Amino acid sequence: MVGFDSTAILARLTALRAADAPTHGGHVLSYVYDSGVAAIDQLAADAIRLVQPVNGLDPTTFTSVAVMEREVLGFARELLNGGDDVVGTVTTGGTESCLLAVKTARDVWRSAGGEGRARLVAPVSVHAAFQKAAHYFDLALDLVPIDQETGAVDPAAIIDRLGPDVALVVVSAPSYPYATLDPVTAVAAACDEAGIACHVDACIGGWILPFWRRPDGSPLPLWDFRVAGVTSISADLHKFGYAPKGASVLLQRGRDRQRAQYFATTGWPGYPVVNPTMLGSKSAGALAASWAIVQALGARGFAELAESCGRATRALADIIGDIDGLRVVGDPVGPLLAVAVDESVPEHRRVDPHHWADRARRRGWLLQLQPGLAQADGTHLPHTTHLTITPVTEELLDELEAALRASADDVRGEPAADPSAVLGALPAGLVDGPLDSDTAAGILQAIGLAGDSDDPSGARLPDDMAPFLALIEALPHEVTERLLVELLARIVEPPSR
Ligand SMILES: *Cc1c(COP(=O)(O)O)cnc(C)c1O
Repeated sequence: MVGFDSTAILARLTALRAADAPTHGGHVLSYVYDSGVAAIDQLAADAIRLVQPVNGLDPTTFTSVAVMEREVLGFARELLNGGDDVVGTVTTGGTESCLLAVKTARDVWRSAGGEGRARLVAPVSVHAAFQKAAHYFDLALDLVPIDQETGAVDPAAIIDRLGPDVALVVVSAPSYPYATLDPVTAVAAACDEAGIACHVDACIGGWILPFWRRPDGSPLPLWDFRVAGVTSISADLHKFGYAPKGASVLLQRGRDRQRAQYFATTGWPGYPVVNPTMLGSKSAGALAASWAIVQALGARGFAELAESCGRATRALADIIGDIDGLRVVGDPVGPLLAVAVDESVPEHRRVDPHHWADRARRRGWLLQLQPGLAQADGTHLPHTTHLTITPVTEELLDELEAALRASADDVRGEPAADPSAVLGALPAGLVDGPLDSDTAAGILQAIGLAGDSDDPSGARLPDDMAPFLALIEALPHEVTERLLVELLARIVEPPSR
């Protein structure tokens, strides 16, 4: 056996981790969901360690996997008010839950006689995972424009588009970009009548909206399995289930529908394959951690954490609403919100939300920049800044408020970043054809986004993101997407020798 120095190996990893954005402490207001309860993180770590060698591929061989999955699904079904006909799967994350919901609906639509290319209808604010699903599973993506000001969708605009080629309608509870609770009851009722599947994407809301109240204390409109036309719901354990990454649930109404999610084959000379999810061999770690957290917190524990998120979210919405030049978009439901420029005040008082986020970043707070978007109807969604609020936010409110106010003061009156200088520096004819890898890398270099391949820190994005986001908005989607692919691909390329 080779000798190795685990201390040195782990010391290197520790040093690498030190350069990461902080996963705990509430200074990163997206990506990470800190319960603030150290004992929960420890319990999750211990659970992962116990199942580390297990292969989640086969719950008949590793029976602990079946027991944990059944118990997590039972808890989720109760939370989302599903009856005995609601069954499900623990997946590796929101994206996988969404992919499987789409694949299931497409295959159910086909077995009911659907021919040609199936269509997926959803508001434009639906999570990008559904764009990915439409791409992977070859569905036509029919995105419904939303209100420019509020991010809300008119249910009639969705219902108008229903037809025999529609395999699935997706609504969100709530949407990621604006925290809008889509009109689930109206849309699901129309789907029910037309015999079309209706998925509620509760990836971010599923584990917290069951405990959520409106600011005036009133309950939310129904959005879960109590709504008859809802055929499936996704809810991420690794968000407000506070589990480590790699866990989500997909619940489906009706055993027969859900069986279309599976892939099985006995048509090869190896072991019979039966997979409910995309992966074959898989870790049971995130499932075990989720299971342990569900046991530990129970509904009361989740409710307590949700209440803290609720108080902090209301306070933050009030603070931001009170900052001259900014506005909270629409009527957010759940512990997240989007912030846009307030165009009702004169220009010299307006605050650009991306410059604002860049200033907050210098103060140690990571807010998430969201680009603007041209909709199919010619309207334009403004660029915004996203904040996800977690249970640790409440304790930091004073500190965060000071940073948000000071950052707004820094940039008030400053116009949004103008990409024309950078655009002007780009080679002519850039958008005319597909970019090869070296050309794409050259462009990244020219706009200051490519690191030196010998210097891993070159993978860092610039400190000021506003110009970069403006560029993303200004270039055609195909070009930006290709450049982003190049950026991410080069980050993991081994250095040339
Ligand atoms: C996070 C999220 C997803 C995708 O989930 P991942 O866990 O990042 O794969 C889908 N929908 C919504 C609304 C989300 O917030």
